[in-house]
Amino acid sequence: MISVEEFGQQAAAWLAANKHLAPRDYGAICPPDLVEQGLAWQKHLYASGKAGIHWPADVGGQGLTPAHQAQWLLECALAGVPGVFNMVGLVLAGGAIQKFGSDEQKTHHLNATLRGDHVWCQLFSEPGAGSDLGSLSTKAERDGDRYIVNGQKVWCSGGRYSNWGILMARTNPEAPKHDGISFFLLDMSLPGIDIRPLKQMTGEAEFDEVFFTDVQVPADALIGPLHGGWGVGMAVLTSERGHIGTSIISLERRLDSIARLAEGRDLSPLERQELAGLLSKGMAYKAMAQRQGPVASTAASLMKLGITEMMFDVAMLRADFSGAAATLDGPDAFGLLAAPGGRIAGGTSQVQRNIIGERLLGLPREPKG
Ligand SMILES: Cc1cc2nc3c(=O)[nH]c(=O)nc-3n(C[C@H](O)[C@H](O)[C@H](O)COP(=O)(O)OP(=O)(O)OC[C@H]3O[C@@H](n4cnc5c(N)ncnc54)[C@H](O)[C@@H]3O)c2cc1C
Repeated sequence: MISVEEFGQQAAAWLAANKHLAPRDYGAICPPDLVEQGLAWQKHLYASGKAGIHWPADVGGQGLTPAHQAQWLLECALAGVPGVFNMVGLVLAGGAIQKFGSDEQKTHHLNATLRGDHVWCQLFSEPGAGSDLGSLSTKAERDGDRYIVNGQKVWCSGGRYSNWGILMARTNPEAPKHDGISFFLLDMSLPGIDIRPLKQMTGEAEFDEVFFTDVQVPADALIGPLHGGWGVGMAVLTSERGHIGTSIISLERRLDSIARLAEGRDLSPLERQELAGLLSKGMAYKAMAQRQGPVASTAASLMKLGITEMMFDVAMLRADFSGAAATLDGPDAFGLLAAPGGRIAGGTSQVQRNIIGERLLGLPREPKG
């Protein structure tokens, strides 16, 4: 097998020659206006043998190791291009199907996901179940050879452009809350699914609320054990764990852009102090990430908390520097309005603090509600 180092060199050369075909690096979720370009990029990756680096060769992957995949993502971050079009499909759904899927589910979905034919969204959060996901109330009731799904999901990124969804729904309302949930691979074109865009305060609508009314879902859409969906969901979310190497590259870029805030400005001592404070924090996160290594989950919580809080403070400072008019319109106003989302998506800052408190600092566990 090719060494990770040699693979990285080949990937860097390929990316240098092909990155002009990629959309800008949008992070985990493709915004609706870049979907066409993102899909074309995924198809190009597939055709060029660059999709599913650590997926098995018999489903169209490259049959390499997670270390090769991490190197691929690192090279993509260095080249400033997205490593995958659809993180929910290529990481979450793909991970769940490889680990828990039947042979039929693997055949039906894995290659189609690599090709960009199956595009996935995540149907977990509900109006009454976000941080406390175990309280979800969307129901899937068995009726012969199908489940009847009723309920509502919310904050579904990319819902409108996805043709498949990973759905967590309650199949046993009598059981303790985490023991009555099942996990489904949902065809988003089924009758009874109503997808409505949610407009954010930035003016954009990157996510949707999704309503289910008597949706007839074939029984073979269940993945993993019946009522054992909590375990599938948690395994999937763990595989979402940040690739720390990639975050270091994007953190370095962010630190550069923070330092550039001072260019051409006559900063007051207070502004200089705030800027220096943010830069030192960023350097500390970088050192911490380099020391923690690629996969420890508590390290991922520390990085997630640190970087999203820092980027929120940077957005505030940028707007302060630009003055009152900049908060009305333009990129600084957009940054100000978009910044809070980073502190919520993928587990809120408070939830990250709970994880760090309990698992790293050994503080008493939160009382169970
Ligand atoms: C940009 C973005 C994209 C998203 N994409 C998706 C998606 O594709 N699919 C999907 O299913 N979901 C998605 N979400 C939803 C996201 O997972 C939830 O918003 C998040 O889990 C928080 O849940 P909530 O909004 O219900 O807030 P709540 O859980 O109601 O939290 C409200 C407040 O209470 C605090 N809080 C809650 N519990 C605790 C506790 N135990 N201790 C201390 N404080 C607590 C929170 O920190 C927060 O400040 C997305 C969110 C964002 C912002």
